Amino acid sequence: MKNKRFIAGAVCPKCGEVDKVFTYEKVTKKFRACTRCDFHEEMRFEQHRQELPTRVNDSSKTEAEPVTVIQFPGSKSE
Ligand SMILES: [Zn+2]
Repeated sequence: MKNKRFIAGAVCPKCGEVDKVFTYEKVTKKFRACTRCDFHEEMRFEQHRQELPTRVNDSSKTEAEPVTVIQFPGSKSE
């Protein structure tokens, strides 16, 4: 089975066992199942969002600013 991921601290709604519930994905659907009993259901969107926020460290933005040199034409006042 691919993408089998146990949910830490999750309680099975059927047998009540902790840490026996895992999730897995099938094509575009996400399922939740238990290893102890035959509990099995399709997950709806945004039930367990436990993705770790990944901080994007993009400090390499040290672009050299284009320097525009403006030269005024020497205006001779006469
Ligand atoms: Zn169970």
